[in-house]
Amino acid sequence: MAEGDSILSDFNERGMGAVLGSSRLAGDAAGILLTIQGSLETGNAGQFQDAVVGLIEGRQPLKTVIVDLSQVTYISSMGVGALATISKLVAERQGVFKLQGVSPRMRELFRQLGFLEIFQMADEPDSSGTAPASVFPLTMACRRCGKPLQVPRPGRFRCRSCGAVFGVDAAGAKRWD
Ligand SMILES: [Zn+2]
Repeated sequence: MAEGDSILSDFNERGMGAVLGSSRLAGDAAGILLTIQGSLETGNAGQFQDAVVGLIEGRQPLKTVIVDLSQVTYISSMGVGALATISKLVAERQGVFKLQGVSPRMRELFRQLGFLEIFQMADEPDSSGTAPASVFPLTMACRRCGKPLQVPRPGRFRCRSCGAVFGVDAAGAKRWD
């Protein structure tokens, strides 16, 4: 068993009111996915933070840390504070910290505590890093006249200079009539 996982086992064996799990992120060998089941509150937030910090410190290099909150039944402001502390530590180590499975109630708590802006959500389309980068707006040269063209989105367009008609698909591939 890896050292990091034994840190989580210690937390789990002490009956902290929550169960922590860790697994590797698919496609990112240096990334970890942490799952929390149960409640994260005043009584266990400190130990939770210690366990996760121990896990992170045992991983070098560290890339992405995603914490899945979908099985959290209750989170207090102390629990949110622990997540914020972990987020800061990951950022200091040039890693990316994200939350997933955040319920509307949790989101409202994050907002009230002023943490909504600092937490990146892994399962929202506008979060950076997970969605493939768009190729648009695309700058290209007209195949017929060579003038530069700015393509704002996928579709069919006509060169303003020479009238050549072309299509661009979502991946940025061009097709000339
Ligand atoms: Zn042209």
